[in-house]
Amino acid sequence: MGAGVRLTNLQRVGSVAGIAGIVMLLGILTFDGINSTRNARKIVAATHRVIEATQATLQDVTSAEAGQRGYMLTNDERYLGPYHAAVLAITADTTTLRQLAGADAQQRLQLDTLSARIGVKLGELAETIRLGRAGLRDSALAVVRSNLGNNTMDDIRATLYTITNRQQALLAERTNGLERRYRIVEATVIGGTVAAVVIALLLNTLLTRFANSQADAARRLDAQNVELADANRMLGEQTVELELQNQQLQEQAGELEMQSEELTSSVEELQLQTAMAEEATSHAEEANRAKSLFLTTMSHELRTPLNAIGGYVDLLALEIRGPLVEPQREDLRRIKKSGQHLLSLINDILNLAKIESGHLDLHIRDVALSTVFENVDALVAPQFDAKKIIYVYPRCDASLRVRADSEKLQQILLNLLSNACKFTAEGGSVKIECDANSDSAADSREVVSISIRDTGRGIASDKLEEIFEPFVQIDRHLTGASQQGVGLGLAISRDLARSMFGDLVATSEPGVGTTFVLSLPRGTRGASMPPSAEPARGNSDAVSTS
Ligand code: ADP
Repeated sequence: MGAGVRLTNLQRVGSVAGIAGIVMLLGILTFDGINSTRNARKIVAATHRVIEATQATLQDVTSAEAGQRGYMLTNDERYLGPYHAAVLAITADTTTLRQLAGADAQQRLQLDTLSARIGVKLGELAETIRLGRAGLRDSALAVVRSNLGNNTMDDIRATLYTITNRQQALLAERTNGLERRYRIVEATVIGGTVAAVVIALLLNTLLTRFANSQADAARRLDAQNVELADANRMLGEQTVELELQNQQLQEQAGELEMQSEELTSSVEELQLQTAMAEEATSHAEEANRAKSLFLTTMSHELRTPLNAIGGYVDLLALEIRGPLVEPQREDLRRIKKSGQHLLSLINDILNLAKIESGHLDLHIRDVALSTVFENVDALVAPQFDAKKIIYVYPRCDASLRVRADSEKLQQILLNLLSNACKFTAEGGSVKIECDANSDSAADSREVVSISIRDTGRGIASDKLEEIFEPFVQIDRHLTGASQQGVGLGLAISRDLARSMFGDLVATSEPGVGTTFVLSLPRGTRGASMPPSAEPARGNSDAVSTS
């Protein structure tokens, strides 16, 4: 069955109560019909007995009269036997009839009449028998002939006939009633049976549907039970797995706890180390300050006697103290040169110390590159001329400016150019290029790049970073003794460039040449005007050559 039968509680109770009510009604009707029929049958039987008793009474009265007639004819007492028996039977008959009459008033009235007439008849018979016994036969016959007996007999017959007729009519009526009750009972039984069958069928259908739906539900329940069992089994497996995972987690938690403890001790150790590092840093800073102070003081202390040495050398060279011979002049020149070299070294060390200690004083402002190049040219041109190196610098638009400390910028450029001069062989070339020019695309750039390109011996690629470290010199032996520095120039130059928010980088190809690129923030553009002066050499660029 597709959809299961669903009976609400009310419907279930209603159907059961309805069926029980119908069955009970049928039972009551059937019981009542059977009871009525039984009563009717009793009444019919009583009617039959009344009729029988009536006929018996008539028969007994007739028998009493026959006994009296026999005695009268024979005067033989033996004939009185039936007479006496009949008289007794009549008494029993009338008693029976009275009992059967019950509360029936009409019948009682008729029985009274009958009893009176039977009494008259029996009185007549007794009188004739008494007269006969007394030998008064004629008187007895006269009573017989008086026809009283016959008339009374007729009356008795008439009364019995009336009673019988009435009883017959009652019998017919009661028999019909009985028939009717039989039919009613029959109809009730048949109807009840049919109704019971219909109800039973209905109930059967309902119960079958209900049973089917219950069976369906049971099947579904079974399927669900199977699913539940599966789910339960899976749950069990998962529980085992979870327990395993839980165990692993607990182990991991234990490990984590251990690691946490280790971490805590590491953190404590780190804190200790940090504190120690901080202390070391503060010591280092303190030491650095002391070093800077020492260097500053020492530089000052060294420069003073060196300047004095220079002054006295000049005095001697001017022959104020007396005339000099040529070897003495040569000695003085060497003393002077060494003193200057020493002085420049001390200045470099002082500069580096100031930069590292953050005590460098910078005066950053917009600086016109054209002016810077011209100033530098005046200082480096003699060196290039001495080595017959072609030196070219660009004719910059005077409005092109960079943000820088003018002196420090010149210091960087001087350092880079003197290096280029130092490490470029005779007949080579050194060229300054500037990527900022007057076209609009370049104008929009925020950084100005100045390249110093030489055709010198070059630097190996793995040394390009190293050369910016303090006191680093590559291939020192290749550099002439007169040209030797201490390896501070590039370190100071890059630190200065970075202090001015720029940078300094190098690219090189050994044997071909080296290019240093100095980048600086672009300054606000000044009033545009033609280059202040024609370059010393060449048409478009300033050139120094030998
Ligand atoms: P210094 O010139 O006093 O030795 P620097 O810091 O200026 O110190 O230079 C460090 C080193 O870098 C130099 O000794 C040299 O080996 C190398 N170097 C610098 N400029 C050039 C260059 N233009 N061509 C080749 N090598 C160079």
